[in-house]
Amino acid sequence: MTNQNVVASDAKSSRIRFIVRKSIFSPAVPNPLPAPSLAKKIETGGAAAKTNAWVDSMRDSSPTRVKSTASLSETKRKILGFMFEQIANASKGKQIAMFLDYDGTLSPIVEDPDRAFMTNEMREAVRDVARCFPTAIVTGRCRDKIYSFVKLAGLYYAGSHGMDIKGPSKSQKYKKDHQALLFQPASKFLPMIDEVYKVLIEKTKSICGAKVENNKFCVSVHFRCVEEKMWAALVELVRSVLNDYPKLRLTQGRKVLEIRPTIKWDKGKALEFLLESLGYANSNDVLPIYIGDDRTDEDAFTVCIYIYHYYYYFNNKVI
Ligand SMILES: [Mg+2]
Repeated sequence: MTNQNVVASDAKSSRIRFIVRKSIFSPAVPNPLPAPSLAKKIETGGAAAKTNAWVDSMRDSSPTRVKSTASLSETKRKILGFMFEQIANASKGKQIAMFLDYDGTLSPIVEDPDRAFMTNEMREAVRDVARCFPTAIVTGRCRDKIYSFVKLAGLYYAGSHGMDIKGPSKSQKYKKDHQALLFQPASKFLPMIDEVYKVLIEKTKSICGAKVENNKFCVSVHFRCVEEKMWAALVELVRSVLNDYPKLRLTQGRKVLEIRPTIKWDKGKALEFLLESLGYANSNDVLPIYIGDDRTDEDAFTVCIYIYHYYYYFNNKVI
């Protein structure tokens, strides 16, 4: 192991800590959780300070992509093997429920978000997981679009940051009383989302490389192709548009700004809803596992074991 890669074990508590500053798709990984001071700046600073804080945060969560190597290094293999062993131990006597982010987790971050395809190898891996455990894709993207990428009928899909949940399109063994599951807690925001999408399409024409995506119950403004010197202008523009929409809020993910309804619903609530629909509400018999790479995934991390850029957490603590 190098100094960057640390695996520490506490024999008394059997707690294991992973600190690995590399991921499959983007080796240059920043701090795993947002700095509280930055969040405070965004909340309390003046207009210029808020813009600067947003740009700092965008930079922090958007590491330069380094070309992936064709195969996993020996170190990564060891770490994955170790993590698998720990999870296997924790799951003894329990039903695993698997939750997977899409962009940056199942697919690489590519310049054109419409071409963020997963490999056939990854699809087969997800199919194999879903044969063993109830499995859900939890994403900020439009559910229909993510289904067109994943193309697996036996999964749950939670699009629009969990605001558009649909169960498997074919019956599956985990839910005997299979019924069509559809839950859309932000449906009343559809006209507003459509409207702000059209406004942002028009306004962002002045920012070269900006791409606006309608994700049905939220809107994404991708800045992965925008020169960094223009990020401040882009944030100011988006925030100025949102001044007219107080019922919408701005968050950010990996190389993307997200416009969402202000309802109290996120990927974490989606996980709780899915666990309940699977019959595991407040159950000790289930081990929910979430794999994600993004700040928006942090909403889900309080209700499950999670793997985040190879950090291995439980209840928001590295273990
Ligand atoms: Mg992601």
